[in-house]
Amino acid sequence: MPELPEVETLRRALLPLVVNKTCTGLSFYRKDIRFPIPQDTLQEHFSQQVVHEIQRLGKYLLLKVPHGAMLLHLGMSGRVTLNNSMAIQEKHTHAIFQFGAKTCLHFVDPRRFGCILWVPQNGEHPLLDKMGPDPFSPEANAQALKIRARKCKSPIKTFIMDARRITGIGNIYACESLFQAGINPQRQAGRITLAEWDRLLSCVRSTLENSISAGGTTLRDFFDPNGSAGYYAVKLSVYGKEGQPCQKCKTPLSRRLHSGRSTFFCKSCQKK
Ligand SMILES: [Zn+2]
Repeated sequence: MPELPEVETLRRALLPLVVNKTCTGLSFYRKDIRFPIPQDTLQEHFSQQVVHEIQRLGKYLLLKVPHGAMLLHLGMSGRVTLNNSMAIQEKHTHAIFQFGAKTCLHFVDPRRFGCILWVPQNGEHPLLDKMGPDPFSPEANAQALKIRARKCKSPIKTFIMDARRITGIGNIYACESLFQAGINPQRQAGRITLAEWDRLLSCVRSTLENSISAGGTTLRDFFDPNGSAGYYAVKLSVYGKEGQPCQKCKTPLSRRLHSGRSTFFCKSCQKK
């Protein structure tokens, strides 16, 4: 499943192809994917407009034009490939966005959990309105998260994976960041101190950032035509390493199942 680092890498790869360029054509091959595609609205407000910015919010991308933005989400299996023609190259291509004669972005999504939507200029959209801050935004700071977590009895791991609290932190990144910060995944979110929030946030950012820099810089680097958009070769310290020695203290790493997801941690470094 594409995670925040893959989406950020996609954003960076799209910048030179799309920003300050005019969308010269839009084609759709389905009425809906996860949600209906607002084809008429996109033809009216996105087509023939210049994209001035691509913003990422969690795992959503907003391609901004004067009257609003096209909102993209890759779902479980979505990817964007760069081709030099509008001709469909592979199965499950649901849309093609053209930016000049040779830049055709094909939106491919076999499992159809992705979305292509329209957000009006005021930026309000039901999918975005309830979303917590992106971990890289200034709103995601220790003070704000401590307030958000006040009285919250859920485990800290559950809290940071809840997109309504802070968006875009998947299971792997939650496990890795908590290990780096030396915080037990089961700790009550409401009991995390300001200093711990500070440490945890900087670990979340560095874990994500390391993965982003492993991702390459062009569309072909990371979403190859065979669609193997897997996790980046990011160096994992705990995830998937049950029983292996902790790299800090050599204690065998533990795994616990909670809310149906595996949590990997070191019971000695993450005592608190
Ligand atoms: Zn350890």
